[in-house]
Amino acid sequence: MVIKAKKKNLFLKGVGVSPGIAMGKIFILDSGKSNLDSCPIKLIDESSVSSEIDRFYAAVEESKKQLLRIKERVAPIGGGKEHTYILDAYLMMLDDEFIVDKTARIIKAKMINAEWALNKTLYKLQNILEKSKDEYLRERKRDINYIKNHILRNLTGKEQKDVSQMDEDSIMVAHDISPAETAQMVRSKVMGFANDMGGKTSHTAIMAKSLKIPAVLGLERITQLANMGDFIIINGTTGEVILNPNKKTIKEYQAKANEYKYFEKTLFKYSKLPAETKDGFRIEICANIELIEEIPSVLEYGSEGIGLYRTEFLYLNRASLPTEEEHFDAYREVLEKIAPYSATIRTLDIGGDKFLSNLNLAEEMNPALGLRAIRFCLKEIEIFKVQLRAILRASSYGKLRILFPMISGIEEIRRVKEILNEVKNELSKGGVAFDGDVEIGIMIEIPAAVAIADILAREVDFFSIGTNDLIQYSLAIDRVNEHVNYLYNPLHPAVLRLIKSVAEAAHRAGITIAMCGEMAGDPLYIPILLGFGLNELSMDPHSIPRVKKIIRSTTIKESRELLENIMKLATTDEIEDYIQTELAKQFPDEFPIANLSVH
Ligand code: PEP
Ligand code: MG
Repeated sequence: MVIKAKKKNLFLKGVGVSPGIAMGKIFILDSGKSNLDSCPIKLIDESSVSSEIDRFYAAVEESKKQLLRIKERVAPIGGGKEHTYILDAYLMMLDDEFIVDKTARIIKAKMINAEWALNKTLYKLQNILEKSKDEYLRERKRDINYIKNHILRNLTGKEQKDVSQMDEDSIMVAHDISPAETAQMVRSKVMGFANDMGGKTSHTAIMAKSLKIPAVLGLERITQLANMGDFIIINGTTGEVILNPNKKTIKEYQAKANEYKYFEKTLFKYSKLPAETKDGFRIEICANIELIEEIPSVLEYGSEGIGLYRTEFLYLNRASLPTEEEHFDAYREVLEKIAPYSATIRTLDIGGDKFLSNLNLAEEMNPALGLRAIRFCLKEIEIFKVQLRAILRASSYGKLRILFPMISGIEEIRRVKEILNEVKNELSKGGVAFDGDVEIGIMIEIPAAVAIADILAREVDFFSIGTNDLIQYSLAIDRVNEHVNYLYNPLHPAVLRLIKSVAEAAHRAGITIAMCGEMAGDPLYIPILLGFGLNELSMDPHSIPRVKKIIRSTTIKESRELLENIMKLATTDEIEDYIQTELAKQFPDEFPIANLSVH
């Protein structure tokens, strides 16, 4: 491992994606990954071959034990199994003849040490995978690397470093943490994390927020600057990161952290109050979830249901597709846990920055514009039907709505409805119970859908505006690209006009209009969203108390006036200045928090 010169009190700026301040020692994920650097190739003599092979088998056995221990530690809290599938896959690899027996054969044939025999075995495999056109196979190279490093560290006697094995609370620093790895932090000691890569609405950011782990992404070179064990402060609210802070900086940030905790505590009382303006306008506040484990905090923070269940997380970290029973069990559990409220279950939205997992997707030049979400489901109808059957079956165990992502035209939603009807008919024929009147809705997240919202509204029961993608597609900004993050702004006049137009179309058609993108949970935007007359806002659960506070301290009249003035302004900066000033006037005590804007 290369030790870098220790930078003192170094301030860095990234994108704060999950609020809160965390400080502690750095744990670098992937650090010391290849121990081959410190382990030269060695020729062994014939008499040592069998003990070398034994040494190798012992390292494999030790790796298995360690993985089993990790598996126990990350065992899910609420019954969901998604975190542990990847570990099962790793355990299977450790039993794989092609890896284990082949290495033993190479030790014998080439008379070299186990470390290099293993390297030879896996090198070829990694090369083949790397050259594969298939994105899924290419991604497996990372898994092979993980296993290789595990065995190598046991061979060289180096300590294993794994997220779930961190023996003290740490701040994780990495080049890039995938949404899948973030999901595994659910039971880890990660106090916060900082990445080179990523942006505000990447799914890693969304996961961090839902797990309430302060995080800063898009730092570009944090892994180049930091060493394992260095001290770091991260401010997930502002995006500031301080490497090896001095005493004065630590004191300053400790005070800020206490202030933040105090705000959180005083806000909590709003969780149980209705989201109603002073002049009696009621708006429904729901939560977005990725994992079933989040439901207790969804209820604790005062949500009135689940406005977006991102079911793609059921497909994560596993070697095969989820079965209909697995889908059904998950949906039923969600409905039972959220009762008497309802859950909006979104069908598979794979693609973009959302993992690769088990689906055999072809490589695409522009994944965000490719075979994503509903496009994938309409191509792989059997995979789609499995999920629809399970959702419909679950509908007799509670209240649910079905939400379809990435709809861009009428043909798509009509085809979706045809398939849904086929599934309903199959279930009826088989005598399987389901709610025949289950409501269906679409995500409005493609500008084309906004343009034809009036026609789309005739086909469905509700709209849910997905601002994360709507902003990405309307402003042409890759939502995970840290270099264009500065352009990403929900207050761009074009974005506001798009939202206005959808809201008006929904109102005219008399259907429910919701918003479930990150914009819905930011206090800064709440008066605007009230002004548009949205019926429902769905957000990260921890944002709910603050959002309720804003709603309860304003009137619909004031919000409409504010919006009217905003819609006359020409630039994002003007709008931002105006809204900041107005908020400071309307909510003097809350304004510092608006500055500490959650997103
Ligand atoms: C969105 O696009 O705003 C949204 C809520 O969906 P996702 O972030 O999962 O794409
Ligand atoms: Mg989306």
